[in-house]
Parts: sequence; C-alpha cells; structure tokens
Amino acid sequence: MLNRILFSICFLLFTNITSAQWFSNSFQVMGTQAHLEFWLDTSEQNSNTSEQLIALVQLEMNRIDKAMSPYKTTSELSLVNNKAGSEAVVISNELFELLDESQKIAELSEGAFDITYASVGYQYDYREKQKPDQISINKALQAIDYRAVVLEPKRSTVRFSRPDVKIDLGGIAKGYAVKQCINLLKTAGVKHALVSAGGDTGLLGDRRGRPWYVGIKHPRAEEKTAVQLPLNDEAISTSGDYERYFIEEGVRYHHIINPKTGDSARKVVSVSIIGKDSTYVDALSTTVFVKGLQEGMAFIDQLPEYEAIIIDNQQTLHMSKGLQQQFQ
Ligand code: AMP
Ligand code: MG
Repeated sequence: MLNRILFSICFLLFTNITSAQWFSNSFQVMGTQAHLEFWLDTSEQNSNTSEQLIALVQLEMNRIDKAMSPYKTTSELSLVNNKAGSEAVVISNELFELLDESQKIAELSEGAFDITYASVGYQYDYREKQKPDQISINKALQAIDYRAVVLEPKRSTVRFSRPDVKIDLGGIAKGYAVKQCINLLKTAGVKHALVSAGGDTGLLGDRRGRPWYVGIKHPRAEEKTAVQLPLNDEAISTSGDYERYFIEEGVRYHHIINPKTGDSARKVVSVSIIGKDSTYVDALSTTVFVKGLQEGMAFIDQLPEYEAIIIDNQQTLHMSKGLQQQFQ
C-alpha cells in the first residue's frame, strides 16, 4: 500500500514537472537570428510536443524566407523582379497581400517606406564595403517609386510600369514571419510565447502572471541594452543603423535607405515601434527611421494604435505621446 502511495506521489510530481514548462530555441533564418520561447502545458488541450511546435515555427520562417528572399534566385520575389518589368506576373495570395500592405504603408508614409528602394539598395554591399557612386544613384532614383508597382487583385498579378524597377521586402517580411508564427502557436493552443527574428518580436499573452521584458539594443554598445520594456500580447520592431553597415571617411553607410536620396537615412540611430500587428510595426520602424525624429514622431502620434521610441544622433531617447502617458 505504502509503495503504491509513494508511486502515485512520484508519478504526480513527475507529470507536473514534465507536462508544463518553458521551452526555447534559436536558429538562423532570413540572414538573422530567430528566437522562440513558449510555455507548454500538455495537461491542457495542447496535444503537441515541444519538438513539434519548434519545428512548426522553423518550417514557417524557412518557408517565408524561401518565397521572399531577394538572395534566392528561385524565390517568388526573384521571379517577380525578373519578369514584372515586362509582363503581369500571377503571384500567390500571400505575396499579393504583403505587396498590398507595403503599398498602403508607402502611401501613408508619403514614400518614406518604399519597396522599390531596392533599385539602389542592391548596389550596396555592406560586408564588402561597397556603395554606388552618385551617377549610379541618380540613375537608380528614376526607378524608385512605389506607384510603379501595379497590383491587380482580380487576377492576383503584379506588374512594374518601368522595366528597371526592383522590389525588396526586407523592411516588412520578418515582421510578417513573426506574425505568422505567433498565429500558428496560438492555433496550436499555446497561450504564452515570444517569437523574434532579428529586431522583430511578437508576443502571445504574458509571461505567466508577469510581463515579457523586451530590450532595445544600445545603438553604440553591442552588448548593452538601452531600455527594457514590459509588454504583453503586442509586437515590437526595432530598426537600427548598427545592424548592417560600414564606415567610410567618418560616414556610416547602412541598410535603411532614404528612397528620395538613395543614401542611408541618418537623422536618427534607432527606432522602435510597438503595436498589435507585427507586420505593420516592422514596416513602420523602417518608415520612421527614414522620416527622422520630428516628422517620424508626428507621424506615429497620429496613429493611435502605434507607439514609438526613437534614439536620436545624440543618443537621447524620445517617446511617443501614448508611451509618455503610460510611464508618467
Ligand atoms: P528594418 O531592419 O526592419 O528596418 O529593415 C531594413 C530593411 O528594409 C533593409 O535591410 C532593406 O531590406 C529594407 N529597406 C531599406 N530601406 C527601405 C525603405 N526606405 N523602404 C522599404 N524598405 C527598406
Ligand atoms: Mg522594419
């Protein structure tokens, strides 16, 4: 009898320990580090194992990378770049919708966010410290205009109105991938999760009675955090000039391009946007980076669903009105 009771206690203890716990996983995708954390309680309706959930997220991120990478010659995006200058190309619903969202943000931002920046963007190589000369920039600028990307919803096609247009989804695709993964975990019954890809983070629920703390990197000290934010059920995206860059004659050339000049945007050094939709916060962080402090903050202050933290060139931190109210 005693043996049986002891066995039952051990069994209960054992199942409690193994049936509910935190899991985490990190992997490389989309040219960056992705990270996943989640609480798995198999005593609830969740029948998935931690390995299955990790595989689900990895597969989804890799699937999106395969379709939207400008570096993969077989991606759907590369196909569009090769063909849409001469004919209307039928594309997947998924790519169509992401292009449509990109176009909406381009309009809303008056062209600060513009996926056709790629015409000049691909001429920069930050690893090789290469940048286009002014003549090449001027030529490429003629092909930078989001209005040259023509979407036709009925047939789900995209066409470029000029043959020299190129597009790139680097400013929005990671946020989209994070959103997809958070939704997949939610559908699988997970209630507490964090998914990040580079500077884009999506949160599902809280950290079990506590908020998640998401750090914004110090823009000039790699291992330091500028600020930690308590967040639940939201997304945050940070765009920084320290992610991919080189310095030549004291000038920093980095991956966020002002579509009007073809040069790197240099009004601020870091922009974080907080909101519910991780696709939008990703695109908006790139947008506000291009716009700079005054224009960028005014832009966010008129969007009630989004908040911003901007670090300027003097490394002073600025918060949007909604955040200032929260922290007062
Ligand atoms: P993020 O780190 O989210 O700000 O995204 C930066 C990436 O967005 C770059 O690596 C480019 O792929 C892309 N990008 C750069 N400038 C722009 C722009 N003005 N509009 C849209 N995408 C951009
Ligand atoms: Mg972005």
